[in-house]
Amino acid sequence: MKKFILSTAAAVMAMSCASDIDMNEIKISSYKDGKDCAVSLTFDDGMKEHYTIVAPELEKRGWRGTFWLCCAWIHDDPQIDTTHITWQEAVEMARNGHEMSNHSWSHPNLTQLPAEEALKEIRLNDEAIEKHIGIKPLTFCFPYNSYNDEAVAMAMEGRIGARLKEFWLGGQHSPMDYLHKQIEDAIAAGSWIAGMTHGINYGYDCYEDPSEFTAFLDYLKSMEDKVWVGTFREVAAYTKAAAGTSLSFKERGRKVIIEPSTDLDPELYGGLLTMEMPCTDMEIQAQQDKKDLAVTCKDGKAYFSFDPFGGEITVSQQPL
Ligand SMILES: [Zn+2]
Repeated sequence: MKKFILSTAAAVMAMSCASDIDMNEIKISSYKDGKDCAVSLTFDDGMKEHYTIVAPELEKRGWRGTFWLCCAWIHDDPQIDTTHITWQEAVEMARNGHEMSNHSWSHPNLTQLPAEEALKEIRLNDEAIEKHIGIKPLTFCFPYNSYNDEAVAMAMEGRIGARLKEFWLGGQHSPMDYLHKQIEDAIAAGSWIAGMTHGINYGYDCYEDPSEFTAFLDYLKSMEDKVWVGTFREVAAYTKAAAGTSLSFKERGRKVIIEPSTDLDPELYGGLLTMEMPCTDMEIQAQQDKKDLAVTCKDGKAYFSFDPFGGEITVSQQPL
């Protein structure tokens, strides 16, 4: 990474000419806060343990999960079904910041249904989640992970992402060395991966040793300087907004003006992106809409969050 080290004399000289910031080195980070990769922890079928075990364990570590609900299985009365969450629990999880999203109304294989029925399965579930939780699901997970082009087109309408690939997180398919490898590979490849889990102590593909679940979370926490743990919706929105936002640069005196532009819908893709640029031995200041943006420096790079829909950003450097 090219690094700018300006002597005082050079800094004084730079005052009379243009900015001493290399605009070619300013870009939008692939993932939030400049992390190397992203991991979404996703949990299928609205199991009771997602409320009693999973959500609290994630919250303890400062994370939020994505929970794929089939609303035909969710009741108001916990006596009716003790294996799935209630609406009250789903609402509480959403209030705590978890993503409660669409896994179809009653979990059929959508590729084996007539289009009209498949669409009904998707829409009924959207409506139920919106009615009880007040948030329209912007992501989708196919029952049995089974999809074709037609089903994807149907499910993706008005949405920002669908889980089309997953790694097993739990049960017989995922011994700890397999789980570690998923994370190591994601870091090396700079990719976004989504883990899939059902029950912890019971149900489909539950853990033989449930303590493996928290052991994996602890491992993931230890990798957090490289890994962004975000909900499926957050990472889908970030990656699409990062790819769909272009930056143009101009100099104004010693300041660099960055103009982000995007054609994306702010309703779907609103949220902050991370900008990165080389860290120097000077203090970097960034502003958008007359507000100071917090700049942090790590491993030779400076990072700050900005709003891709928020207009021009001013970056300048001052001697420390
Ligand atoms: Zn399922």
